[in-house]
Amino acid sequence: MRIVHDPGDLDGGPCVLVPTMGALHEGHASLIRAGSEIARQRGLAGGCVVSVFVNPTQFNEAADFERYPRTLEADAEICREAGAAAVFAPEREAVYPPGVGVPTPRLPDVATRPRLEDAMRPGHFKGVCQVVKRLFDLVQPRVAVFGEKDWQQLQVVEQLTSELRLRVTIVPGRTVRESDGLAMSSRNRFLSAQERPAAGAVARALVAGGKCSTPATAERRMRMVLEGAGLRVEYAAVRDAWTLERPRRGRPMRALVAARLGTVRLIDNAPWPCSGLE
Ligand code: AMP
Repeated sequence: MRIVHDPGDLDGGPCVLVPTMGALHEGHASLIRAGSEIARQRGLAGGCVVSVFVNPTQFNEAADFERYPRTLEADAEICREAGAAAVFAPEREAVYPPGVGVPTPRLPDVATRPRLEDAMRPGHFKGVCQVVKRLFDLVQPRVAVFGEKDWQQLQVVEQLTSELRLRVTIVPGRTVRESDGLAMSSRNRFLSAQERPAAGAVARALVAGGKCSTPATAERRMRMVLEGAGLRVEYAAVRDAWTLERPRRGRPMRALVAARLGTVRLIDNAPWPCSGLE
């Protein structure tokens, strides 16, 4: 497995890209295994390339960016074990060359209209679209794998790719969870031992809401479970799964939650209705 810092050294041929910000865990590893398998099946000589780049433009809190864990050596080991062909860990200057404005593509509606992540984290999806387009330009992948854990991001990237007519197929990857249902996340390490049990309420809320008979009762139920465990709710919503607008009968729906526990912001989602999380 190669570790590449300079985009000029990315010459492995057609590939699958798994974009990450590092601090990798089993959730990322599952995406990398899926990416490696897709590359093998499609005969893509470049295999699975994992980008590790803590993108400053998608952070809307400076402190969050500063404390984001940077663990490249351990990340490379996880990538190797999961079958990656290369880790692409560019310096900031390679992604955003000084003095050269890296354009932000026109944002798709799903990045600005739903009033969920877009409202809670102003500028976040602008940074995501900017870095995803830039990484696609640098790596030129045929396929890119994104996790369902960040459901709204997945919809944003799918719409962006389609609106810009990019020749890359977006493949979703299932959310990997801890035994109590907590979705794995690089930020979970900031939960204290006292806080950690309460974090399981996020998954419990999705399951409880999934069993309610209407979106409105599901939203109330999710909020109750989260607040009951001492979390500060940012949103607990049932939306159209693809547009993220208000749900309409006959279309797939998704339950989406964001809540804060101490200094940690937790997000998760699940199909709605649902009888349990896979
Ligand atoms: P991040 O490094 O947090 O930006 O995430 C990189 C990719 O991994 C994104 O596509 C995420 O949706 C995905 N991801 C993060 N957590 C998980 C998880 N628990 N299970 C599966 N994929 C995940």
